[in-house]
Amino acid sequence: MKKLAVFLCSMALVTVGLGDALAAPQFVTVGTGGVTGVYYPTGGAISKLVNKKRKEYNIRMTVESTGGSVFNVNALMNGDLEMGVVQSDLQYQAYKGLGEWEGKPQEKLRAVFAIHPESVTLLAAADKNIKSVADLKGKIVNIGAPGTGQRVNATDLFRTAGIDVDKDLRAEGIKPSEAASMLQDNRIDAYFYTVGHPNGSIKEAVAGARKVSFVPVADELVQQLVKEQPYYAPSVIPVAHYPGVANTEDVSTFGVKATICTSADVPEDVIYTITKEVFENIEDLRTLHPALAVLTKENMLQGLSAPLHPGAEKYFKEAGLLK
Ligand code: GLU
Repeated sequence: MKKLAVFLCSMALVTVGLGDALAAPQFVTVGTGGVTGVYYPTGGAISKLVNKKRKEYNIRMTVESTGGSVFNVNALMNGDLEMGVVQSDLQYQAYKGLGEWEGKPQEKLRAVFAIHPESVTLLAAADKNIKSVADLKGKIVNIGAPGTGQRVNATDLFRTAGIDVDKDLRAEGIKPSEAASMLQDNRIDAYFYTVGHPNGSIKEAVAGARKVSFVPVADELVQQLVKEQPYYAPSVIPVAHYPGVANTEDVSTFGVKATICTSADVPEDVIYTITKEVFENIEDLRTLHPALAVLTKENMLQGLSAPLHPGAEKYFKEAGLLK
């Protein structure tokens, strides 16, 4: 009886000890965008890298398809996500309390690192003869579902072009994963997608039976947008990526950068570990999606406006990327 008691006691001690060593894993969900975008596979690639070492790191990453940048900021701030992909323009607006967050700065928003550039991409059915933003008047235009970055960019563009979204056209709020087929099915005339190039969803959109073209944003409009908003930059969509598209020349527009954000509430060691893992495997990341091919350790520190999360900052200093 005594022996059994001693045995049970020592088992209990062993169990407690083990419990300590195997502290509860840290769960990190990364919010992305629609399944046909670039955010979703990128979030998947980062999760896969980190999960490979889950025994060592005790971090479990999962990727979630979401509404996009605006949704991700809000979900980070209310604790539903630990990481999220956010357009650089929306990172800026959220932290400063502008636009969607007018008067409500999201003070806990933190930048981790930047990823690929994104172009505000306007696609239109060639049979609708849409050659400029002004030609969208009277048309059925998907400006993007609420929560997406493209909805904000399309709204900015229309304001700059002096077009009233409510009166001058029929605006739709369709998810990016459905827009391409709706354009092919003649249910919309055009749609906006702020996205990295090249990408599969636009390849599909321009390769259907209905001829599709990219609509350029006129230089004057781009200049005005860049002048008014520090986070916009001129950008070009190379048509060579898109067999079947009606354009013969590269398309000028404006763009932003995709960035990875988190909240000040996420522990330093978690963000440090994830940042380090990504930067040490940047070669892998570059080959995982063609839109990520341009990534360098240096450009992954550009386009961030919210304060750096201390975990990311620690890694960047250690790696000599930051003084
Ligand atoms: N830029 C888009 C957004 O913020 C998402 C693009 C993507 O999923 O690749 O909503």
